[in-house]
Amino acid sequence: MAVDTVRQTEQTSVLERTQQLIKKALEHMGFAESFYELLKRPRRLMTVCIPIRMDDGSVRVFTGYRAQHNDAVGPTKGGIRFHPAVTPEEVTALSMGMSIQCGLTDLPYGGGMGGIECDPRTMSAAELERLSRGYVRAISQIVGPTKDILAMDMYANAQMMAWMMDEYSRLREFDSPGFITGKPLMLGGSAGRESSTVKGVTIVLREAAKAAGLELRGAKVIVQGFGHAGGYLAKFLHDAGAKIVGIADTGGALYHPDGLDVDYLLEKRDASGAVTHLFASAISNRELLVQACDILIPAAAENQITEENAADIQAKIVVEAVDGPTTAKATEILTSRGVLLVPDVLASAGGVVASYFERVQNNQGCYWSEAEVYRKLDHLLVNAFRGVHRIALESKVDMRLAAYMAGHRKMAEAMRSRGWV
Ligand code: GLU
Repeated sequence: MAVDTVRQTEQTSVLERTQQLIKKALEHMGFAESFYELLKRPRRLMTVCIPIRMDDGSVRVFTGYRAQHNDAVGPTKGGIRFHPAVTPEEVTALSMGMSIQCGLTDLPYGGGMGGIECDPRTMSAAELERLSRGYVRAISQIVGPTKDILAMDMYANAQMMAWMMDEYSRLREFDSPGFITGKPLMLGGSAGRESSTVKGVTIVLREAAKAAGLELRGAKVIVQGFGHAGGYLAKFLHDAGAKIVGIADTGGALYHPDGLDVDYLLEKRDASGAVTHLFASAISNRELLVQACDILIPAAAENQITEENAADIQAKIVVEAVDGPTTAKATEILTSRGVLLVPDVLASAGGVVASYFERVQNNQGCYWSEAEVYRKLDHLLVNAFRGVHRIALESKVDMRLAAYMAGHRKMAEAMRSRGWV
C-alpha cells in the first residue's frame, strides 16, 4: 500500500474509533440516537482550492479543509494543521477531539479543526505567507471571532497566525485579534500560550498522582519521548523531586532503576539532537515501556501500549502526553488492572484552554501576566481532571470514556435546549 493510502486508512480508523466512543458516551448518559446522528460528523466540512504563485513563478494549487464539529455551546474553535498528508477524515476526527476538550474543560466553545495539504519545510517564508493568506481568503465566509476561531497546530507557528490575523482584519476592514489564537505577543498573543499544552500535562499529572495516593517526590517515572514535550516533562518531574528512571528517543531508550541525570541528558540532547544513541546500555522503546516505574508518560508516538504489552506495564499511572499512544483494547486491560489512565484529550487540553484565555484577553483589550494565565489554567484543568475522574468512578467506566462523557454532556444538553434534537 502506498504511504498515503496507509495514512488514509489509519485516519479513517481514528475517525471510526472516535465515533464509536462518542456513541458509547452518549448511550451511557442516556441521550437518544438522534444526538449521535448529529455528533458523529461535523456540522460543516469545507474543502477549498488555494492557487499560490510559487517563488519560481509557477502556480501550485493547494487543498485546504475546515471542519466545524458542533456549535451548540458557542463558536467552534481549533487549530490548522500544515501537513502533506492531512485528510478530511483526520480534520473531522480532530474537530471532534476539540469539542471534547472544550467540553471537559467547560469552555464556551465547540470543536473545529483545519488543515492544509502542504509540506511547510520545503516552502519559503514568502510562499508560506501567500498560502496562509490564501487559506484565510478561501474560508473567510465561515470563520470569524464569533463563528469559528482558528489556532495553531502541527507545523504552524506564531508568524503564520499573524499573517492570517492580518489577512482577516484586512478583509473585514477592522482589527480582529479574536479571529485566531497563538499570535505573537505584540499582536495580542497571550503570555504562557506556548508552553500551555505541556504545562497542562504537568497539572493533570499532579492531580492524577493525588487521586492515586502517590507522592510525586520520589516517584519513579518513565518518559517515552525526549523532544520538546518529553524533555520538558522529564525536567519538570525531576525538579519536583521525582526519579526519572527511563527516557527514550527515536534511537532507543535508557533505563536505570536509581534514576537518570536529566540535566546532563538534556544538555547532550541539545548538543547532538538526540541522546540515547550515545550510550551502549541503550534498550529499545518497547523494552522501556514494561520496566518498573510508578508513572509512565508516553510522549512520542501512537499505538505504543497495545494488547501485547498492556498486561506487562508496571506503572500505576499512565499519562498520554501524545495523541493515541494506547489502543482501545489496551485501555481496557490497563483499567481492569487498576492503572489510572489520563487520556490524551484530557492531558493535552491546556493548549485550547490558554487559547480561550487569549481570546478573552483580546475581547477585553486587557492582558494578564504569565503567572495569572497559569493560575487560571491550573484552576480549569484541576476541575477538568476531577470531573472526568468522578464520572469514571461513579459510572464505573474507564477514564477515556469518562472524558468523552464529560466532553459531550453540555454540548448534548445545549443541542436539546436549542431544540435541535
Ligand atoms: N491545537 C492547539 C494546541 O496546541 C489547540 C487548538 C486551539 O488552541 O484552539 O493545543
